[in-house]
Amino acid sequence: MTDQVLIVGGGPAGLAAAHALASIGRKVTLVEKTELLGGAPIHSGYAKLVPSGEWASDAIGGMVKRVAQNRLIEVKLNTTVKKFAGAPGDFRATLSDGSEARAGATLLTTGFTHFDSLNKPEWGFGTFPDVVTTTQVEQMISSKQGVRCPSDGRKPKRVAILLCVGSRDRQIGREWCSKICCSVSANLAMEIREELPDCHVYVYYMDIRTFGLLETKFYWRSQEEFKVKYIKARIAEVTSNGQQLIVKGEDTLVKRPITIPFDMVVHAIGMDPNVDNMLLSSIFDVKLEPHGFIDRANTYGVMGATSRPGVFVAGAATGPETIDDSIAQGHAAAMSALGALNLAMAAE
Ligand SMILES: Cc1cc2nc3c(=O)[nH]c(=O)nc-3n(C[C@H](O)[C@H](O)[C@H](O)COP(=O)(O)OP(=O)(O)OC[C@H]3O[C@@H](n4cnc5c(N)ncnc54)[C@H](O)[C@@H]3O)c2cc1C
Ligand code: SF4
Repeated sequence: MTDQVLIVGGGPAGLAAAHALASIGRKVTLVEKTELLGGAPIHSGYAKLVPSGEWASDAIGGMVKRVAQNRLIEVKLNTTVKKFAGAPGDFRATLSDGSEARAGATLLTTGFTHFDSLNKPEWGFGTFPDVVTTTQVEQMISSKQGVRCPSDGRKPKRVAILLCVGSRDRQIGREWCSKICCSVSANLAMEIREELPDCHVYVYYMDIRTFGLLETKFYWRSQEEFKVKYIKARIAEVTSNGQQLIVKGEDTLVKRPITIPFDMVVHAIGMDPNVDNMLLSSIFDVKLEPHGFIDRANTYGVMGATSRPGVFVAGAATGPETIDDSIAQGHAAAMSALGALNLAMAAE
């Protein structure tokens, strides 16, 4: 029996859970498959976060620092779990470095994979260098390089942001809404206008889902203060006339074809299930839900419970999630893990 906890995945959810458990004196092993803690906001170089406006490097960097400095948390980078056996109170994980980690409970905080825009070839990504993704624009801003056309480094005068790329698209098997990309795109549109006041920014949308309180700060502010233009449209294709990119589609409000030239086109990419999920499902013997995310055993009961007792899940591993909700779920799953440990110890 051990009361240590194994956490797999060092993004916002895993970092929050590790810190919560260590803050009440529990030992944690945190296994992260890359060479860096911080998850998508750090790996993909996000700029200013929605909704706080804080730089990702400061906000998530601060979470990384407090975990890295906590002597109760053993961080194992460049590591994955190869085998996993046992029961609540006494799990044994074989790690890729050959070592063994014992744990009374385990949390899967393995997050998501960004949609690969090459799967939407008709919208120009991979064919035209000035068709980029929201993560690329985040990196241009966070690296302080500034928003530039990759083909020749010029400042774009006209930018189109296409929403729902790899989300809400049955044709490519992705029915879900990725939840945060409307707000992220409105935020990026404002950042582009702030840096390049002469640049016209258009957002092409099916529906705008700047949910809850984000409507004011992102949807309305981007239009009223930053003069970002929104077009309700179905996009057919992105082509080029040799000088500029051409976005062709139908304005679905007036039901007319529209063809507009741009210097840069940005794909607002969605959140796919982690590409590792099939493997994680078989190693940890947890069920996936129909879209391929890790299934939660219930909605209102033990938070983060999976189909396997003693193994919990939090954050974007369960489906598209925001950072603040991933953090909250990390805390909740940590609490559930403690409950499972207590039960296992009492039964001994
Ligand atoms: C373009 C874009 C911009 C976004 N901007 C914002 C924003 O401004 N505000 C906001 O609230 N949300 C934003 N999001 C959503 C945000 O990225 C997620 O909410 C957040 O990253 C989820 O955190 P997580 O810890 O659950 O997962 P992740 O951030 O995906 O972290 C998972 C971690 O687990 C590791 N891992 C994966 N598989 C394994 C494995 N098999 N073994 C070990 N480790 C593994 C990964 O390397 C990673 O470090 C954005 C999303 C996109 C697509
Ligand atoms: S949040 Fe907006 S852009 Fe993202 S999938 Fe949902 S509707 Fe589309």
